[in-house]
Amino acid sequence: MAFGILSISYHLYRMTFVNKDLQLLDTALTMLKTGFDSFPDTLNTENENRIRDTLLEVSEKLHNNYPYFQSNYAGQMLKPPHAIARLAYMLALYVNPNNHALDGSRASSPMERECIDDIAAMYGWQNALGHLTGGGTMANLEGLWIASKCHPGKVILGSELAHYTHERISHVLGINFQKVAANNRGEMDVLALESELKKGKVGTVVVTMGTTGIGSVDPLPDILSLQEKYHFRIHVDAAYGGYFVLSDALSDKNQEKFNSISRADSIVIDPHKHGLQPYGCGCIVFKDPQVGKYYKHDSPYTYFTSDDLHLGEISLECSRAGAAAVALWATMKCFPLIKAGEFSRQLNGCHRAAHTLYNYVEQDDRFISLVEPSLDIVVWGVSADSLSEMSYKAKTIFQDLARKNVHLALIKYPTKLLPKNWDHVSKDADYVTCLRSCLMKPAHESYISELWYKISDSFDAMTR
Ligand SMILES: *Cc1c(COP(=O)(O)O)cnc(C)c1O
Repeated sequence: MAFGILSISYHLYRMTFVNKDLQLLDTALTMLKTGFDSFPDTLNTENENRIRDTLLEVSEKLHNNYPYFQSNYAGQMLKPPHAIARLAYMLALYVNPNNHALDGSRASSPMERECIDDIAAMYGWQNALGHLTGGGTMANLEGLWIASKCHPGKVILGSELAHYTHERISHVLGINFQKVAANNRGEMDVLALESELKKGKVGTVVVTMGTTGIGSVDPLPDILSLQEKYHFRIHVDAAYGGYFVLSDALSDKNQEKFNSISRADSIVIDPHKHGLQPYGCGCIVFKDPQVGKYYKHDSPYTYFTSDDLHLGEISLECSRAGAAAVALWATMKCFPLIKAGEFSRQLNGCHRAAHTLYNYVEQDDRFISLVEPSLDIVVWGVSADSLSEMSYKAKTIFQDLARKNVHLALIKYPTKLLPKNWDHVSKDADYVTCLRSCLMKPAHESYISELWYKISDSFDAMTR
């Protein structure tokens, strides 16, 4: 009987999957084929059985994943790509364009440039220069590289809560990167920044608009005021937070910070984080297109056939997936980057989900909040007399929840950044482990009460 029900529901699942997803792909593929005399064999019949067996083995291996696309995965920064992105990507794979040179990507390079124009326009920029990258790290590498070309030999500053890769990238580039203290809201401390600026050696400040750990937003308007006096370049790392410029649910203060991004010099945003794209899609945009001169090179292979700009001329990476540009273009065609559009609606829902969870934490003595969520990440501690005890309890709850197929994340947070409501806790360690949840899926909003029930249950299980 149980087997019967299982096989019926599997059958239904398969029907909807094939109907809605793959049939659409099949229709689009048929359309694509009409443009070519011949088309790559979808399946080589000689090896069909071997391919089938291997593919089924892969399906089984992939069971060994947490259910990232479900609401009960509320841990790390993982968001499922939208169906249009997935389908457009798969469709483009049959052509497999390379967005390095125009020859290799006659359709997808112009699509990439349209995407860049629209992303730049989201921040009020026109005629900006930019391109897609493998991810935020490569995008930041290019941002910092250009920054070091604009101000050779000068220091680059970033908050101590900036993404850990800035330090490593700077090491690769031979740049002197220094950390600025954060305050107890997890934002760059403006006074600490000014005392560094006074030393006179700073060329660029990296401003994180949405830290990866806790989602805090550096005070860009205050940093822009300091820029008038100390004249430095501003690189905004909005790999995770960048799309929130479209939200209208943020606090006035955070809204103002996002509205002032237009005054920065370069921006990194990850379409593979909040932009509904599969992995392999970051983006760097420079306000001043003149910085393109730093990329100048003479490749002997690629630039014969067109006077148009080849994206490979303004990218440090050579080959890049044209399919990533196709997927992003298709997504932005369906859901334009406008206020009050689908992106705003989804981001507002994620932000509200974070607030709801935060309010549960605030009203419950068993837990202790860290900071009010600026975007859609919530971090909180498990109450105890000392930090080491709190860390132990957070790990215990995290593991118990995982056994029940509810997935949060953990973060090691610096003791010196803890806010006042933690004053009574004995500070017996330099770091405290907290629970962390990235509520990046729209479905999270209606899941929070159930999530809280399960978290409470795991707390009780620990104390029983
Ligand atoms: C995720 C993230 C990065 C790194 O981006 P990847 O796409 O993972 O390479 C850099 N900065 C911030 C703020 C991020 O959230």
